[in-house]
Amino acid sequence: MRKPYIGGNWKMNLNRTGSCDLARAVADGVNSLRGSVEAAIFPPFVYLLAVKSILRERTTFVKLGAQDVYPDADGAFTGEISMSMLKDCGVEVVLAGHSERRHVMGENDELVGRKVRAILEAGLECVLCCGETLEQRLKGETHAVNEQQVRAALAGVPGDHLAKLTIAYEPVWAIGTGKVATPNDAQAAHEKIRGLLNTLYGDMWASRIRIQYGGSLKAANAKSIFIESDVDGGLVGGSALKGDEFNAICKAAAEAKSQ
Ligand code: PGA
Repeated sequence: MRKPYIGGNWKMNLNRTGSCDLARAVADGVNSLRGSVEAAIFPPFVYLLAVKSILRERTTFVKLGAQDVYPDADGAFTGEISMSMLKDCGVEVVLAGHSERRHVMGENDELVGRKVRAILEAGLECVLCCGETLEQRLKGETHAVNEQQVRAALAGVPGDHLAKLTIAYEPVWAIGTGKVATPNDAQAAHEKIRGLLNTLYGDMWASRIRIQYGGSLKAANAKSIFIESDVDGGLVGGSALKGDEFNAICKAAAEAKSQ
């Protein structure tokens, strides 16, 4: 049984006070769900340390996440942040290949793959994001795009690094748009991705790796999606900026998977 996993991706939002308040609201609000869900929050880099000290002080199970990383160990990469810097700040999980990194910042599959390998080699958890644009969906390319992105990102990743891998299927047209995938569409995409994991790594890993759904999740629609058999929680953007809403999504995941 895969434990549902909810991530709150704060993106480029909030200030220091707002980040600390939200971290407190999440840590306290999901406390009763310990054991039935896993959760992580992904503040902007500059607030990682402040948020970490709150998570520590609350002795919460909520993990500290980073929204991105640069794969080289150190050197002349102005503006970038390395794995060892993230570890130093107490980060436990890192996103790779979020659609905004791919489509706004222009990251390609090769760079995403280097990030995935750097995260897993450093022994941290990686949430690898994939998903099709609206244009690709209309052309019937959803599964092909997911396959291409996942295959490319996992090229060279050995099986013994997979225990710390989560995949987030996030259709680009559903991110921040209020348009959520139907439970059937999400399940169909997740099932295909799990099938690909089976082809690449065999049944044991395919049945263990969690696949989150992301794109306009909110408390009101989360449970209907989380109830699908191949959906193992979600990666939440806009709704993760409100403590009550995020906590309700975590609760929906616990309920969906206890039924
Ligand atoms: P959204 O973002 O929930 O605001 O659609 C999801 C994401 O980008 O992870």
